[in-house]
Amino acid sequence: MIEPTNGGGLNDPTETLPQPSGFAHFGFATELLDALTAIGYTEPSPIQKAAIPELLLGRDLVGQAQTGTGKTAAFALPMLARLDPEQRTPQVLVLTPTRELALQVAASFNSYAAQLPQVRTVAIYGGADFRDQIHQLRRGVQIVVGTPGRVMDHMRQGTLDLSSLRALVLDEADEMLRMGFIDDVEWVLGQLPEQRQVVLFSATMPAEIRRISQQYLNSPAEVTIRTKAADAGRIRQRYLTVPAPHKLAALERVLESEGGEGVIIFARTKAITLTVAESLEADGYDVAVLNGDVPQAQRERTIERLKSGQVDVLVATDVAARGLDVDRIGLVINYDIPFDGEAYVHRIGRTGRAGRSGEAILFLTPRERRFLGGLERAAGKPIEPMEVPSNATINQHRLDRLRQRLTAALNESSCREEERALLSEILQRVAQEQTCSPERLALAALELSLTGKPLLLQGNDDFTTVRPQGPGREGHGRESSGRDRGREPRRADRGERPQGPPEDNMERFRVELGWRDRIKPGNLVGAIANETGLNGKSIGRIQIFDAHSTVDLPRGMPEEVFQTLRDLRVLSKPLQISRLKS
Ligand code: AMP
Repeated sequence: MIEPTNGGGLNDPTETLPQPSGFAHFGFATELLDALTAIGYTEPSPIQKAAIPELLLGRDLVGQAQTGTGKTAAFALPMLARLDPEQRTPQVLVLTPTRELALQVAASFNSYAAQLPQVRTVAIYGGADFRDQIHQLRRGVQIVVGTPGRVMDHMRQGTLDLSSLRALVLDEADEMLRMGFIDDVEWVLGQLPEQRQVVLFSATMPAEIRRISQQYLNSPAEVTIRTKAADAGRIRQRYLTVPAPHKLAALERVLESEGGEGVIIFARTKAITLTVAESLEADGYDVAVLNGDVPQAQRERTIERLKSGQVDVLVATDVAARGLDVDRIGLVINYDIPFDGEAYVHRIGRTGRAGRSGEAILFLTPRERRFLGGLERAAGKPIEPMEVPSNATINQHRLDRLRQRLTAALNESSCREEERALLSEILQRVAQEQTCSPERLALAALELSLTGKPLLLQGNDDFTTVRPQGPGREGHGRESSGRDRGREPRRADRGERPQGPPEDNMERFRVELGWRDRIKPGNLVGAIANETGLNGKSIGRIQIFDAHSTVDLPRGMPEEVFQTLRDLRVLSKPLQISRLKS
């Protein structure tokens, strides 16, 4: 096994001294070396150092490495170096779990092959036009990057001919396993020519992935890149506890008191990225969104805007933010809890880059507190508690900032000389007309600068001091039932407890299926989540009565979604959903 001793991310401090000839040692052609110089790669990362020589020899390889280590170039560069540009049939196939990753990997191949005009790459994935893809495949391509299902479809219908394939790469194999694609992957493996190189990259090595590598790979080289604890060491990690209905308000407070340069907010679903972004935009932030619906070209533009500071806040899903490498990210907010420890480590690794320090804040609802230990283990250190900034904290922060801005304006004017003269003239004139003191005048000017936003935050801020609840205590309707999938309804679900009003951001609906129809909360959650695309977690309290039930759903459901729900049948019976007037 090859284990680079300084294994770690590209941020490895020992890696920062550029040696211009870093990639030349591999014996790459000038076209490839020039392309690497053009995109700023000077020195191979640890995984590249370890994997490239093996792959250039044509060996099979198992690489355990996460996104962010430079694994794409680790396989793409030797593949490009070995292919025959004159032969215009697929020679390299890369299977990826998601469309986004397929596009990213194809884009990487394209940038490395920028000076190899005969080399063509195509990305093929589900949900995109089939004929378009056939057209691109027919034009002659050497590299195909795709998701397993669509690749299989093309192979079956003869539009993707792999008879001359030289190499197959399974990228993020554990993700493909997790997403249920492993049978498809095995089917593809079974169709390949006998003589081929197989490369498997995976962040983790579950037994099933080990089995695949033993069955299909031929004495593979093994490369393991461990994520360094030192990387996480530069990141201060904190968590706060906030009831689900107050998360958005808590986010606004955290951003106001902690947000600085660049901020990435991680949300679980596309829908949540949009809700969060809209709300922050209304607060006056320059926000961008990265989710699976964002096309590649726009994704690149968004990242550029984030890099250049045109946008300060990015709201993203995990998949869309994979491998994102922007130095100026000072704060990562885990608005929704990540799926697992690995996702957490990846998320917080978006800050503290290029040797800088960073901050990471994790939002937990009281019930999610039990996952904290697992995330701490993954991060390799304790995550400190913090409180949602209270009115007093926010207000102190606002006053401090105003004082700093005023001091800065005194010392360094942003106006031109003649503009200042005009402003001064206005001041003198108003002072004369109103016969007021300079202090009274300055006060009025300062008030003007508040531009409609109140100086002090007021109102109830009780939620900022939530104490964790003991297990089993119900505090927040929104969380209570969405998780009851598959369980017998509890007393409360059967309507034996008085029915409180829905949470502020929820609306109550009635469906004409109840206890008599043997309906369970899980049936309703599953059917509604499938039809609306809503995350099961954002479906609120469900109460089952004898002949009907009520479901709390987020306010503002679009009319067409409501219409779809009206036609929905659950357990073969019409749902007959209607809005309950409060
Ligand atoms: P990956 O792990 O393949 O997703 O790569 C993570 C990021 O590192 C991408 O933005 C790559 O463009 C970048 N990268 C990969 N290799 C190098 C290198 N040798 N030098 C600088 N950046 C690199």
